[in-house]
Amino acid sequence: MPACLLLLLYLSHGLIPPIGSPLVPAILFLNFRHVFVLTMRKTKVLLIGAGGQLGSELTQGLWNLYGIDNVIASDIKDPQGVLAEGRFEKFDVMQRDKLFEILKKNEITQVYHLAALLSATGEKDPRWAWKLNMESLLFVLEAAHELKLHKVYWPSSIAAFGPTTPKQETPQDTIMDPTTVYGITKLAGELWCEYYFRRYGVDVRSLRYPGLIGWKTPPGGGTTDYAVDIYFKALKEKKYECFLAADTYLPMMYMDDAVKATLDLMEAPAEKVKVRTSYNISSMSFCPAQIASTIKKHIPDFEITYKPDFRQAIADSWPKSIDDAPARKDWGWKHQFGLEEMTADILKNLAAEQK
Ligand code: NAD
Repeated sequence: MPACLLLLLYLSHGLIPPIGSPLVPAILFLNFRHVFVLTMRKTKVLLIGAGGQLGSELTQGLWNLYGIDNVIASDIKDPQGVLAEGRFEKFDVMQRDKLFEILKKNEITQVYHLAALLSATGEKDPRWAWKLNMESLLFVLEAAHELKLHKVYWPSSIAAFGPTTPKQETPQDTIMDPTTVYGITKLAGELWCEYYFRRYGVDVRSLRYPGLIGWKTPPGGGTTDYAVDIYFKALKEKKYECFLAADTYLPMMYMDDAVKATLDLMEAPAEKVKVRTSYNISSMSFCPAQIASTIKKHIPDFEITYKPDFRQAIADSWPKSIDDAPARKDWGWKHQFGLEEMTADILKNLAAEQK
């Protein structure tokens, strides 16, 4: 049989020729090239839920890292603002086949899955919150396993903790007894991530975000949304009615730090990522009275009043501050913004935008 036919036969059947055969160097070269091409596949990212508060800013962070052509933002709604400048797929993540089709068609290597129903909106439709948050995560994990994606990012939340969790400096490993359906989906999701890592080797990474505060996109129905709304109202109306009590301490994070933490974790070498449920992550903790007095330094006639609603009970069940020592030790997490720096930055940007 001619040598090239024999070579094809060996390659197509994954066979190894006898030692000493002149075909051995050719087989080794071609197999090595195949493995090399597979592992060096260019990073191509799909971000699901890109139209939300975090997604719209994370998309821009990913553009900077991988180039605008290598990032596909997606959401169930049409792209707004800056998202329209990049590649976009409008689709419902609950359509499993469509998800697989988009991943294959675009040769995606990393998925950031952010779509979810949040804490306050989840309580209005608990059954749907469970279905959307859990099934979509399982679709993404199945896809990561079957299509051999390089990495998956999925966020958890401080909502995965509950009333009997230690409230101050909540440790990485502790009691987790969430009371909201959102928190239940985050706790279950963390365990599914770890399961896919252990059982199938899926490189899935996660952070337990505190309340995220940004000024570019409106918040999506969480219990910490007051700390975003307050800046808009302070500039426009010089007053704000807060849906949490004055002394409700909660862990919070500026969006710039949240994006940095996410990308730092995803860029860390796999062996440094030791927690495969979800990492505690922290930068500041404050209550409504404190944020109001920080705003007053910039807008002296700003007034805050308090009218706690159903979200007070949710906030009361969450930690007041977070210990994120493992994230700092394992992959070098460092925050940049505290309450004063964040307030100055947001008011400066919002004021410039309103001119
Ligand atoms: P958000 O509500 O602002 O954005 C979620 C996005 O998902 C929306 O644009 C929505 O249109 C999209 N979406 C909803 N259903 C979809 C579907 N079926 N298919 C495709 N897209 C769909 O939320 P966010 O604040 O940006 O949060 C993003 C992630 O971070 C969530 O998983 C959330 O649990 C987590 N997180 C957020 C905070 C926070 O303070 N914002 C805190 C902790 C954790």
